Amino acid sequence: MPARILFYICLVWMVSFACTPRSTNSKPFTNQPVSHTLLDSPMPNKSFMEKTEAEWKKILTPEQYEVTRKKGTERAFTGQFWNHKEKGNYKCVCCGSELFKSKTKYDSGCGWPSFYAPADDKIIREATDNTYGMVRVEVMCDNCGAHLGHVFEDGPSEHGGLRYCINSASLTFEKDSTGK
Ligand SMILES: [Zn+2]
Repeated sequence: MPARILFYICLVWMVSFACTPRSTNSKPFTNQPVSHTLLDSPMPNKSFMEKTEAEWKKILTPEQYEVTRKKGTERAFTGQFWNHKEKGNYKCVCCGSELFKSKTKYDSGCGWPSFYAPADDKIIREATDNTYGMVRVEVMCDNCGAHLGHVFEDGPSEHGGLRYCINSASLTFEKDSTGK
């Protein structure tokens, strides 16, 4: 295979992993190093819920396992929830912790479910992610360590300016009949 084709394949692959939004919103998206203050571990001594790799594989689909336990990224505009608009709560696919509420979900145009705030700061653990030549802030479920996605600083300014860019594969949805 010619080197040029390989180069473009690599480029497309890296871009798809970079959670790079395709929106033309007035506020430009960037992959510049973020100054967002890491929440880090709200409870530093707390360890993640422990399960063996075999146990996770038993309860998760291959895609859910790859995203949540191996820090994978689903392709943009392919997940179950990027364009999902029902009212309710988004929970961790691994442990059931409530992570995000539909009222904080918004259309960022990036192809992944986007929220401007977690359901509770204490349920999100953050860490610096230096992979793919970028400095990003990874977000995980604080209860089980599931990789969820990343948080960026190009969210809606009226709601604090953060964008939690989350993989659908890390979430389940529970409809709220009361419409909250
Ligand atoms: Zn979890």
